[in-house]
Formats: sequence, structure tokens, C-alpha cells
Amino acid sequence: MNNNFLNTNEIIEIENRHTSGVYAKQSIAIVRGQGASLFDAEDVEYLDCSSGHGVANLGHAHPKIAEAVSKQASTLITLFETFPNDQRALLMQKFANLIPGLDRVFFCNSGTESVEAALKFARISTGRKNIVATMRAFHGRTYGSLSATFNKKYREGFEPLVPGFSHVPYNNIEALEQAVTEETAAVILEVIQGEGGVYIVSTEYIQAARQICDARGALLIVDEIQTGFGRTGTMFAIEHFDVTPDLLACAKSLAGGVPMGAVLIGPNVRNLTTGVHGSTFGGNPLSCAAALAALQVIEEEDLPRQALVKGAYLMDKLHQIESPLIREVRGMGLMIGIELKQKSAPYIKALQERRIIALNAGMTVIRLLPPLVISYQQIDHLVDVLTEVLTAELEIA
Ligand SMILES: *Cc1c(COP(=O)(O)O)cnc(C)c1O
Repeated sequence: MNNNFLNTNEIIEIENRHTSGVYAKQSIAIVRGQGASLFDAEDVEYLDCSSGHGVANLGHAHPKIAEAVSKQASTLITLFETFPNDQRALLMQKFANLIPGLDRVFFCNSGTESVEAALKFARISTGRKNIVATMRAFHGRTYGSLSATFNKKYREGFEPLVPGFSHVPYNNIEALEQAVTEETAAVILEVIQGEGGVYIVSTEYIQAARQICDARGALLIVDEIQTGFGRTGTMFAIEHFDVTPDLLACAKSLAGGVPMGAVLIGPNVRNLTTGVHGSTFGGNPLSCAAALAALQVIEEEDLPRQALVKGAYLMDKLHQIESPLIREVRGMGLMIGIELKQKSAPYIKALQERRIIALNAGMTVIRLLPPLVISYQQIDHLVDVLTEVLTAELEIA
């Protein structure tokens, strides 16, 4: 403990006094992490089943990330992308082979920025204005990505949004067929809708989306910000479906928790010439070094496989919970939604009181996004607590 030690109450009090107000603040204050565990200021342990919305796929405080960041911080932190750099070059080379065909990359600093870049690239590439997105989609909160986001809870009060966006029902081929025209620049899709409620794209739909885009000369953008980097059992979720997008937006777990976003770019994306887009922090050596270390850890620890095997184990146990509250359990790898017949918020609160941090998705879904390094013992504990919360005669809801 250092001289700046604050206890939980002090931390919460200061934040409540000075917060912008845009976050629903929790009543616990986290100061440290280790693997799938988080610790508060009094060293009480929580099991993290949120990974910061899918950022901490590698677990918290991974020693390889800490080492890479520390080493690069004392070498070179910042460098505008006009100047080539060793860490960035190595990362580009690594990225170029992740999805065959997508061999160019644009670096930025967050999820919403990667969506913004993909949208701009689609318009400049095609010379067209219209973007087709899907209902329930979440793509971020800045103006372009917000215009692609569907839920009015995020949009209301911020109009006018960017013109040219429309929303069609997810997994409905006919509606997509009608919406995409010769004026469509791009279709943008999540491979699994995360915030929207953990809905998985159907193979027929994503393959049809590819064909429809090709037929009309539109680009296909996939948003893998939440599904990327091993989460669903493959490096990117799109690999399950035998489809290659033109633009792939990613962020969250890309640099092992260090802020970074990227767009992978395919051969049909044109007109990306000098000055078309840019970012001051994009591709900085510190984030690139962290991302290089993260990709190495994902490989060495075979995190996609861990997600697959542990996901199957957890899913099996969840299916065995007999509770009249559960409507459906669905997911891929370690991205899992438990849909209830009523609002999920009170159950997420009950989990937190039992030191498990889970997420909502839509109104009725409990979303589980644990670090992929979660142990089987921790998974068993999660299932025990979930069973208690979803079956006991609790004063919930
Ligand atoms: C989190 C997320 C975003 C936005 O990312 P930020 O880094 O918060 O801007 C966009 N799309 C999806 C699918 C996400 O999960």
C-alpha cells in the first residue's frame, strides 16, 4: 500500500462529487486485478464475468502485457504514423495474416473510432452515401457509429444524426435484399449482437449479406469489437461462417487492455489516399507493443481454444440449471447470454452482492464475458452462484 491509499468510501465519494454524471456508478471500487479476479480497496475479491465489456480477454495484469508496456514506455511512447516504427511494422505484419485477404490496417484508439473509420472508408471507396445497419445493433456512441446504433436510448437527444443510415431486422435476408441498393456504400453488422442481447448471426444471413453486397457493389463491414480476439472460440467470430468482409472493425481486447482500435481492410476498399483519414494517437508504439504482446499471448496460451472448450463446459452447466426464470441460454465460446422471462437487472445486482460481476444485454439478458483465462474452479463457482440466484426463493425483483 502506498501513501495515496483511499478506502472504498473515499473513492466513491470523490468520484460521485466530480463525475460527469454519464455513468451509473457501482457501489464497489476496484483497485487491482489478477487473471479473472478483481479486488476492491479492502482486498475483497470479485469474479469478473464482464472483462470490461470484453476488453480483458487475456485476464487482468497479464505479466507479458505489463512487461511489454513497461519496456516500450521507456523506449518510445508516441510517434505519428507518418513515421514508420519497428513495433508498428511488426504488428501490421502480424495483423495482415489474421484474416486472409485483409492485408492493410488502419490503427486508432477505441471501438467507436474503428467504426467511424470503417464508415468513412466505405463512403470514400464507393462514392455512395447510404449505410444499412441492423435493428438492436450497437456500434458506438460518436456520431457516425451512433447513427449505425439502433437503440433509441443511445440516440435520443442527439439528433440530427448522420444522414443516410437505415436499420433492417437482424437475420432477415429478405429485408436486407430490399434495403441494399446501387446507392448503398456498406452494410454493417455485428457477428454476434452483444449489447443488443447476445444474438448470433445465422450462417445463411451472413453469407447472403456477402452476396448481396457483391451484387450491388456495396462493402461489407463487420464489427468484431466485442467478438474479436478469441472470445467466440476463433480469433474473429467471422471465421465460423466462411465469409470475408471488406472491412473489419476491432478494438477492446486488441492490445491486452491498453486502449487501441483497428480496421482491417480488404482489396475492394479503394481511394484511401494521403489525408483521407488519420489519428494523432493511432498506431502509437506503446499500444502497438502491447498489441504485439497480446497477439503472442493469444497464440501461446491458445485462448481461442480455451474459449471454445470452457464455453462448452459452462454452457452445458447453464443448460442444467432448472429455473422457471430462464427463457433461453445462447452464445458462442465465452460470449454467453442467459435470457430471462423478466428484467435481468435485479439478478445482476444479486450476483454482484455475491461478488460476481456480470453484465446486462438488452432488458432481460444476463451477459457473461469472463476473461478467457477463467479457471474451471471459477466457472463452477459462477454456476453455483447463478443457480442460487436463479432458483432460490430470493427477495429479487
Ligand atoms: C464496445 C463496442 C463498441 C464501442 O467501443 P468503444 O471502445 O466503447 O467506443 C462498438 N461496437 C461493439 C460491438 C462494441 O461491443
